[in-house]
Amino acid sequence: MLKKIVLVIISVVFVLPLAAQNQDYARKILKSLCSPEFHGRGYTFGGDSLAADYLCNEFKSLGIKPIMQPFALTANVFDGDAFIVAGKDTLKAGRDFVVNPSSQSVNCDIKLSKVFRKYDTLQVADVALLAVDKLPPQGISNHQDKITKFYIDKSLIHNKKRALFKLDVQLKHGYITHNIIGIIPGETDTFKVITAHYDHVGTLGRDAYFPGAHDNASGTAMVLDLAREFVSMPKQHYSIAFILFSGEEIGLLGSYYYTRNPYFPLSKIKTLINLDMLGSGDDGIMVVNGSVLEDEFDFLVNINNTSNYVPKIQSRGEAANSDHYFFYKKGVKSLYIYTLGTYKEYHNIYDRAEAIPMPAYDGIFKLVKDFVTDY
Ligand SMILES: [Zn+2]
Repeated sequence: MLKKIVLVIISVVFVLPLAAQNQDYARKILKSLCSPEFHGRGYTFGGDSLAADYLCNEFKSLGIKPIMQPFALTANVFDGDAFIVAGKDTLKAGRDFVVNPSSQSVNCDIKLSKVFRKYDTLQVADVALLAVDKLPPQGISNHQDKITKFYIDKSLIHNKKRALFKLDVQLKHGYITHNIIGIIPGETDTFKVITAHYDHVGTLGRDAYFPGAHDNASGTAMVLDLAREFVSMPKQHYSIAFILFSGEEIGLLGSYYYTRNPYFPLSKIKTLINLDMLGSGDDGIMVVNGSVLEDEFDFLVNINNTSNYVPKIQSRGEAANSDHYFFYKKGVKSLYIYTLGTYKEYHNIYDRAEAIPMPAYDGIFKLVKDFVTDY
């Protein structure tokens, strides 16, 4: 009986605060990265560089000297007007409409014919209108196409006779953005690498920004959280590198650049774990490359079978869907972990820090920590 009471007291005093600690730190990072101040971590209003500075400061406060790796990209960005006036209503970017990422600037008044009401699509010159029940995800592109497409909430446009469309677009060439690298030296110059991309799709005009909590403030937060954990531990056998990439949403540009300009030889990487979209997880995790890197995957599954960190681990083959890809193509044993479950906000204005449940966060944290420590 006494033992029980002591145990309960110990678990209340020690275990609970420890269990909550990682999430608290991650939540703090998430909240900052997803705030309006970082403009959706794209290439408007300096969003990416503000985020990079913030992340460098976090590394510094952990006692890790950050290395900024600059590279140039081309980005098609929306940094001016973005609105539709339909009858008496002004439709808001992000909430009421989104556009194709390769849009050009538009400033025109369009008569909305009855045909539009019937078929949900209308093209007038270089402008296409698509009336939809649910807005598609907003992306970001490195070029412009001939056609500018507006995806508009059907209920707001169908009964209107005319509408005014205004969209300011800039194709920025030679825009300098940064990957950020933090290193904890070990006893050898062989590395375990943990990566995530911190960029997102930025803004749609001056008023709408995409917070990108799930994609990928969540993974970025865990990379820092793991850095915080490893820096507090005794010196490891392997060195550990934490790399936060920019340019992922335009086409894995940061990790592509890094693999062509690495800070230490790629052949010195024992394993790489990439974290992208950790906001869900009630159905467990998916491991990309799990079915081609069997030894690494089996080791991960064995850790989980022993410790029950996450509800389920699934595997799939190679996929060019995040920053592990070009490392894998260069022969680095790279696994990419994303969460599975009910949370579905993706590339929209609702993917906010407060919205992501992160039920598997602590489990994934421990799983990756054990894998990096023991494999
Ligand atoms: Zn992502």
